[in-house]
Amino acid sequence: MTDRFEQVVNLCKRRGFVYPSAEIYGGFRSAYDYGPVGVLLLKNIQEAWWRSMVQLRDDVVGLDASILSPPAIWEASGHLQNFTDPLVDCRNCKERYRLDQLEDPTTCPNCGKRDTFTEARQFNLMFKTYAGPVEGSGAEVYLRPETAQGMFVNFKNVLETSRKKPPFGIAQMGKSFRNEITPGNFIFRTREFVQMEMEYFVPPDEGQKWFEYWCEERYRWYLDLGIPEDSLRLRPHDPEELSHYSAGTSDVEYRYPWGWGELEGIANRTDYDLAQHAKASGEKLEYYDQANNERYVPYVIEPAAGATRTMMAFLLAAYSEDEIGGEARTVLKLHPRLAPYKVAVLPLSKKETLTPLAREVLRLLQPHLMCDYDETQSIGRRYRRQDEIGTPWCVTVDFDSLEDRAVTIRDRDTLEQVRVPIDGLVTELRGRLEG
Ligand code: ATP
Repeated sequence: MTDRFEQVVNLCKRRGFVYPSAEIYGGFRSAYDYGPVGVLLLKNIQEAWWRSMVQLRDDVVGLDASILSPPAIWEASGHLQNFTDPLVDCRNCKERYRLDQLEDPTTCPNCGKRDTFTEARQFNLMFKTYAGPVEGSGAEVYLRPETAQGMFVNFKNVLETSRKKPPFGIAQMGKSFRNEITPGNFIFRTREFVQMEMEYFVPPDEGQKWFEYWCEERYRWYLDLGIPEDSLRLRPHDPEELSHYSAGTSDVEYRYPWGWGELEGIANRTDYDLAQHAKASGEKLEYYDQANNERYVPYVIEPAAGATRTMMAFLLAAYSEDEIGGEARTVLKLHPRLAPYKVAVLPLSKKETLTPLAREVLRLLQPHLMCDYDETQSIGRRYRRQDEIGTPWCVTVDFDSLEDRAVTIRDRDTLEQVRVPIDGLVTELRGRLEG
C-alpha cells in the first residue's frame, strides 16, 4: 500500500485516533476502537451529517431504532434471502475470498496457485444471535446490517406523529453489522461500522427529480467539508449493477490510495421497501393525499453513507506534510467543523505564574468549543502535536497576557498569529468556526 495510507494508519495509532481492538489480547481482526481524538472526529462527522440532513431542514426528522431486530423484518426486506456474497475458498492455502472481488477468478492472490478455488457458496452477511435464555428457533434475532429498515418499519408511526407529508425524510445514524468475508483496508471495511442513512419519501412521479437532487446535495457535502474535487466523483451504476428494486443508483466515491471506493450510495428504491413491509405485516404503509383525494405508496430516495469509512477519507484527504523554518511538520488540515479539538490552550511556559490565567481562558472557552489543554514540553513541540491532530487554532497565554489580558491565536494552516483580548476570544473563535 502507498506511503500515505501507512502514514495515516500510524498517525491514528500514535495520536489516539484509532486503535486495533483488543490489542492486549493480540488484536481482534478487523475491529477497531476509537481513541480520545478519534471519537471526537467520528462524532463531528456524524454531527455535520445530522446538521445538514436534519437540523437545517424542515422536511427531515430523526429516528433511533433498535439494533436487535426480529427475523420478520429481514424476511420482508429480502435480506434473509438475498443479503449474501459469493464466497470461495482456496483448497491449497485455505484463504477465503469474495468471488466478485477477485481480479482473476482462476488464480489465488495469496498462494498464486491456479484452479484451486471451491465452488462459490452464497454466504449471508447478517449476524444472528439469540434473545433470552433459550437458544433455538423462536429466539433468533439479528443485528441490523443497515439502519434503513428501522425507518421503513416506523414509516406509519412517524407519518402519524410528525405531521410531515411527502416529500419528507427520516434520518438515522448508528452502528450496523455485517459479517464481511474480506474486511480490510483499516476502517474502510469492518464488520461493525457506523452508518448515516436517510429515507426520503416522495410521490412516485417525483422519484427521478429527488434522486438527482440528493445526488447533488450529498456530493456537495463532502466537498464543503474539505474533500478535494479531484479525489471525489459521483458514479452512476451500470444497469447490470443495479439492485432489482432500484430505478437508479449513484455512488459518491473517493480516490483511496488503492483506487476509487464507495463513500455513499444514493438510490431510488421505488416503493419496494414499503410495499414489501405492507405485504408482510398487513399494515397499510401508504400516504393519503387529501388535496387530490388519492392514496399512494411513496417512492423512497435513500442516501446511505458510512461514518467510519468516511472518516478514513477525511483523514487521508487532510494529511499533509510541509516545512516550517527548515523543520518538517505533519499537519491534518481537517475542516474546523470536523477537527477533534477546535482550540488548544497553551501557556507559553509551565511557570506557575501563567497557569491560573491559562486555566481561566480554558474555562472561558470550554462551554462553547471542544478544547485541549497542554502545558508540557516546549511550545514548538506542542504546536506540532496540535497540528498532527488537526487543531485549527492554538491560543497561547504568555507573560504579557498577565498585563494586557490578551492572548495570541495561531492558525494551523496559515501559521498567522494575532493578538486578541481575552474578552473577545469566544466571539473571535466562534466567528472563525462559522466563517
Ligand atoms: P460495499 O460495496 O463497499 O460493500 P455497499 O454497497 O454494500 O458497500 P451500502 O449497503 O450501500 O454499502 O451501505 C451504505 C454505506 O455504508 C457504504 O457506502 C459505506 O460507506 C458504509 N458501509 C457498508 N459496509 C461497510 C463496512 N463493512 N465497513 C464500513 N462501512 C461500510
